[in-house]
Parts: sequence; C-alpha cells; structure tokens
Amino acid sequence: MSRPFDPQRFAVVDLIRRKRDGGGWSPDEARWIIEAYTAGFIAEEQMSALAMAVFFRGMSAEELDPWTQAMIDGGVRLDYSDLGRPTVDKHSTGGVGDKVTLVLTPLVAACGVAVPQLSGRGLGHTGGTLDKLEAVPGWRGNLTSAQVRRQLREVGGAIVAAGPELAPADRKLYALRDVTGTVESIPLIASSIMSKKIAEGTGALVLDVKVGSGAFMKDLAEARDLARTMVRIGTGAGVRTVALLSGMSTPLGLTAGNALEVREAVEVLAGGGPADVVELTLALAGEMLAAVGVDADPAEVLASGRAMDRWRRIIRAQGGDPGAPLPTALETEVVSASADGVLEQLDAMAVGLAAWHLGAGRVRKEDDVQAAAGVELHAKPGDLVRAGQPLLTLHTDTPERFAAAQRALAGGIGIAPSGTTVTPSPLVLGRVA
Ligand code: URA
Repeated sequence: MSRPFDPQRFAVVDLIRRKRDGGGWSPDEARWIIEAYTAGFIAEEQMSALAMAVFFRGMSAEELDPWTQAMIDGGVRLDYSDLGRPTVDKHSTGGVGDKVTLVLTPLVAACGVAVPQLSGRGLGHTGGTLDKLEAVPGWRGNLTSAQVRRQLREVGGAIVAAGPELAPADRKLYALRDVTGTVESIPLIASSIMSKKIAEGTGALVLDVKVGSGAFMKDLAEARDLARTMVRIGTGAGVRTVALLSGMSTPLGLTAGNALEVREAVEVLAGGGPADVVELTLALAGEMLAAVGVDADPAEVLASGRAMDRWRRIIRAQGGDPGAPLPTALETEVVSASADGVLEQLDAMAVGLAAWHLGAGRVRKEDDVQAAAGVELHAKPGDLVRAGQPLLTLHTDTPERFAAAQRALAGGIGIAPSGTTVTPSPLVLGRVA
C-alpha cells in the first residue's frame, strides 16, 4: 500500500447507507473500502451489505478505478517486460464447454508470443481451466512466479492458478460474493477480473465476454457494458485490452466436463474438433496476435501441428503426461430425442447444471471435482433429429447423480417440428476496443 492505512478514516455504516440510497463514494472512500476489507477492519457482514448495495446501485468510473487500483496495490504486480518477447493473456467471463484456453495458449505461444495464462477453477455451472487440466495425469497449475517466468522463457506458455500474492482482496471478496448472490454485477466482475489480470503483468489482454443463458451476462447490452468497463480499466492501467462478445446460449463444442473437454481440445489441436471451438479459438488468437503486433496466421500454425507440439511441452513442463489416457467415467446414461424434428434449443445453463450435478463442478470451493464427469453432446441447435436418437451422454462415477442431472436438463432441450428453420445465432457477436 502506498501510504499508511487509517482504519478510522471513514465510517463503514455511512458508506453502506450512502451507496444503498443511491449516493456515490469519493475515490478515497472507494480505495479505503478495499484496503479496510483486506486488512480485516470491515467485517464480512458489512462487506456483504456493501456488495449488495453495489449490485443494485452500480459504481461510477470515479469509484471503480480507485477500487480496482486498491485491489491491485494490495498484492504484487508482476512484470514480464524483460522477457524479450511480447506477452498476452486471454480471459473468458465463464461459460459451459469453454475449453478454448487449452488450445489458445499453445497456439499463440507457437506463434512466438509469451502467454502467462492465469486461470481459475469452476464454480457453479461454469467450468474452470485448472479443473480441466487437472484431468491430465500429473499436471499441476500452482507454479511460483519464478517458475512461471522460467516456463515462459523456455516454453512460451504457462497455464497457472492466481497465487495468493495477486490481488488478495479479490480472493476474499469473490468468495463472499459467491455466497451472497452478488456475483452478477458489472463493476464487481470488472474489478475482480481486471485486478488479477493487471497484477499478473501481461502486456496485452483479450477478453471473451460471454452472452446468453449460460453466462453471467444474459443480454448483449449488458455484456457490451461489461466489456466496455473492462477495456476502459485495462487501457487505463497501460494494458492493451480488447474484448470479443461471444454467444453462450448453448454449450461451446460437444463436451462439458473436465476430461471430456481436454479430449476435445486435443482433437482441435490435432486439426479436427467442433467448428465452433475452432472458430472462436482462431478469432481470439487473431486478436491476441494483433494486440501485440505479431504477424502470424493462427490457422496455419494450428494445421501445421506446431500448436500440438507446444501443448505437449506445456503439459510436460507442468508435470503432466500428454500421452497418458484421460480418465473415463464409471457409468454413462443416454438422453434421447423425444420426437422427430429440428433441435431448436440445447440450453447452456441446463447442460452446465447437469454437468455440475454429475460431479464436474463443485458446491463449495474446497470440494473435489470428478475428472471424468460431464455431458457429451451428439447434436447442436439446427440439427435434424429422430425420435429415440441419442442427444446427450451423461458421464459420472456416481450414478445416483443421474436423476438430478436429468432434472436439470428438463426444459433445456427443445425440438421444433420437422421443416422448421432454426438458424443458430452467430458465435462472435461483437468487439469492443
Ligand atoms: N471471474 C472472475 O474472476 N471474477 C468475477 O467476478 C466473475 C468471473
């Protein structure tokens, strides 16, 4: 912290009341709240009330910028400017079946750019990259910053957990928001993501802001607002920041669940895989390369096998065995089409919740996940289906979970009469720079 912290400087209850009633905080007050909360001077119940007041009243840029800066200043800020090559990271706001990071990190690293990919764990219906990669036998994501630096030099990419020294206020506040219904707030999401990303020391950042039923932001206007807020914070902190808005009303690709998603990512690295995963990966790779001024063709690098080679090196460098078989579930159950027709809806939230019930996600952050649990899709919206045809396969080690997964899917699958035209909406819905 830049100056001695004075716990008596402001009265917390006054700050709560003012925000609750629609008033604003001065930059000093906003900064002080984060400092006081991190130092343990603001009690959890007071911070819950503050977060709920922000949830309903929002924050102006004059409040949010010092708030975010205080989150960054409370921990270390890494610096890779001596690495000898540009650095760029990608962040997704969270979706279902989003395994893009697994392909993108080695792909962009193979294009000559260092990728310090800071990743998280899944919570609720959304998956987390660290949980996915832990399905690879031996792999670990908790590297020290010295190990990350060495790996960036030697391999060009690292996929790592945020250490406790990066934005410690976010760690505390995110856990509180998660249990107080205050996650889905634009200023709170923006400050949470951007504080970690700025502290991590990346030179440029590409955001994938998800929109739709399976995302925090359900409509395009909200998602654009979140994207603009994050781009403004990043740019203001000297990090070149660009955002793509991408659809999340149906899962990305054909799998949701840890080992299932790793398998699909490896298919994409091998030159195959579902078209939507390839499309989004290449769109984000193009933005990442442009953000650091590197002229390379990510489609060519993917097709050449160089991204696959880099994947193997990244996995090995972090203790994993890229050739080891991935875990498979002890039990599977098929969900079949109830009628002939056109698959109109396969709702991302329903599939995400089903995967979570099957054991792919956790209820509390200290829970373990099942590496092999999840949902495999056999059709996508727009496909013709016949009654009785398999639509989904549910995977779990604990078959007593099938019933809850089936309940989560009820209402999430829609089949329109044959002959109906179902046009899937475009995947990339906008760009904010
Ligand atoms: N991811 C984060 O890191 N923070 C949020 O608030 C939401 C998603």
